[in-house]
Amino acid sequence: MREIKNLREMYLFSQKAKNHGKKVGFVPTMGALHEGHLSLVAEAKKKADVVVVSIFVNPIQFAPNEDFAHYPRNLRHDKKLLKNHDIDALFLPEASKILPEDFKTFVEVEGLSKKLCGRSRPAHFRGVTTIVAKLFNIVAPDVVFFGEKDFQQQLIIRQLIKDLNLSIELVSVPIVREYDGLAMSSRNSRLSSHERKAAAIIYKALSIAQEEIERGEKDINKIVFRLRSLIGSEPVVRIDYLMVVNPETLEEAKQAKGKILLAIAAHVGKTRLIDNLLIDAR
Ligand code: AMP
Repeated sequence: MREIKNLREMYLFSQKAKNHGKKVGFVPTMGALHEGHLSLVAEAKKKADVVVVSIFVNPIQFAPNEDFAHYPRNLRHDKKLLKNHDIDALFLPEASKILPEDFKTFVEVEGLSKKLCGRSRPAHFRGVTTIVAKLFNIVAPDVVFFGEKDFQQQLIIRQLIKDLNLSIELVSVPIVREYDGLAMSSRNSRLSSHERKAAAIIYKALSIAQEEIERGEKDINKIVFRLRSLIGSEPVVRIDYLMVVNPETLEEAKQAKGKILLAIAAHVGKTRLIDNLLIDAR
């Protein structure tokens, strides 16, 4: 595994692979890696000849009151995991090189960026898409891998790729969960043991709603009410949003019919978690 910090070196590494007819796969991450990230790496190994993983905790996707300073970081552990997974390059750009003082350009996907997480984190996706666009230019991948845990993010990146005519294929990878259903997240390590137990209600409630929809419940208000009361049984969990939306437009669904996305963000103590379930409601 080659470790690359220099942006130009990263670009040349990719170009060399491409010149040899190799397909470059790219997995952008913020580190503190877990099985969810590794499932993206496994998918990349299947679909690409050369696999690049980046670790960059992107400062501009955090608002000043959010957890940038406390975001989990564990580079030693990450390197060990990635070595075991036999990736080709680990890209570790420095913040000062990605965001020099005279940096002025932002990339924003309108509309989608203001829904769901964009309501309580209005500048979040602008920060994500700006850095992802830069990483795409530096790594110059043929295929990129994003997790469905961040469903809205992968949808926004798809739109970015389309709108900017990037020759990149996006592969989205299903959510990897803990034994009790909690979606794996780097932030889970910040939960106390009590919060960690309570957090399981998020997936449990989503699953109960899914069963009800599959049994024929169509009324969104009833579904949301039931989800809220289930999650409300854990006082340490505070819902930020809980919505049933169209998985392509993220517009609120009027009925549980066809493909719908149950999407939730909740604070568990001080930690904000997200999760979702994609349901085909016949
Ligand atoms: P992050 O390091 O949290 O920015 O995530 C990097 C990538 O890993 C994103 O594409 C995430 O959607 C994906 N990811 C994070 N957690 C999971 C998970 N539990 N299952 C699948 N993909 C995940």
